[in-house]
Amino acid sequence: MADALIANFTKRFPGGAVIRGKLDRPMRGHSVTVLFGPSGCGKTTVLRCLAGLERPEQGSIQFGGRTWFDAGPGICLAPQQRGVGFVFQDYALFPHLTVAGNIGYGLPANEREQRVGEMLDRFGLAAVVQQRPRQLSGGQQQRVALARALVCRPRLLLLDEPLSALDAALREELRGELRRLLAACDIPVFLVTHDRAEALALGDELVVMSGGTVRQSGPVLEVFNHPADAEVARIVGVETLHPGRIVNLSEGLATVEVGTSRVIGLAPPDEARAVFVCIRGEDVILQRNDGAASSVRNRLVARIVAVHPGSPLVRVELDAGFPLFAFITRPACEDLDLSPGQPVTALVKAPAVHLIAREL
Ligand code: ADP
Ligand code: MG
Repeated sequence: MADALIANFTKRFPGGAVIRGKLDRPMRGHSVTVLFGPSGCGKTTVLRCLAGLERPEQGSIQFGGRTWFDAGPGICLAPQQRGVGFVFQDYALFPHLTVAGNIGYGLPANEREQRVGEMLDRFGLAAVVQQRPRQLSGGQQQRVALARALVCRPRLLLLDEPLSALDAALREELRGELRRLLAACDIPVFLVTHDRAEALALGDELVVMSGGTVRQSGPVLEVFNHPADAEVARIVGVETLHPGRIVNLSEGLATVEVGTSRVIGLAPPDEARAVFVCIRGEDVILQRNDGAASSVRNRLVARIVAVHPGSPLVRVELDAGFPLFAFITRPACEDLDLSPGQPVTALVKAPAVHLIAREL
């Protein structure tokens, strides 16, 4: 049975920012709901209101049939009464405490040793139990932060941009590790990010926010492939998104089966075989006749499904063995005389095929 998270609240800041949190999502164990949107759109505020670290002026929040907050009668449960675990943006580990001290902080003394011990085993931290945060690797710090959030046995885990403080290389590496750690969590996870790749790699459900308001929510692929309006389309910002499976890896290139077709892209950094194939419409070139050899790795036999006129760019919907979208200029569209049903060749360079790892 899924616990529903139902929230509809308004938080006003003295500086004038108004954040509206509107959610109605089933939250299942093992499932990750990602709150996604640009910096400053209000994601952290929503998360802090859910956690009870911030108090909205209006509205209500319920989880699993229990009221956490209701402005009407003035109900506002404290964070520990809500049973949530919180992982802060920069992990916010206590620098002067050891790993054990960080994980056990705030636990009753008679339970501390046993509960901390369980977490050390689960997160593979036993060997570094006496170390301080600055002596740990990024991956170890991430695991301590998760262990500290989970040691109180919460019913919901909240994470605020858990990878954003890291440099790009480490971020990709730890994204894979975080995916595995979250998949092993038996409670629902609600994670905030402004990073599209992170949303795709980690999320099952997606909630898109912009300008202080929730714009759309639903399963990740559904939101990416069917944005409700132009604003959501701009935020999710990728025209072609389709699940695929890597069938060959060689010299940094991955061959991916996608639909009934195959494309070549740059290999993702981890061992994942299941991926999302992402291609921006600007990166697809259309050709009437399959011309001479070129450096382009992907020459896809396609058929035009529809031509959606726009200015200055026309959006061309193709069937390339999977749904593929191209943005081309209006004069190019006229030169090629494109119409539905027509065969074309779609050219996509391998570096324009972005592969986002999903699971092992
Ligand atoms: P995000 O996490 O998406 O980057 P935030 O929730 O941190 O966004 O901030 C949303 C808006 O609320 C911003 O305009 C920010 O300036 C404002 N805001 C956030 N916290 C405070 C605060 N404590 N006081 C005043 N304004 C705030
Ligand atoms: Mg934030």
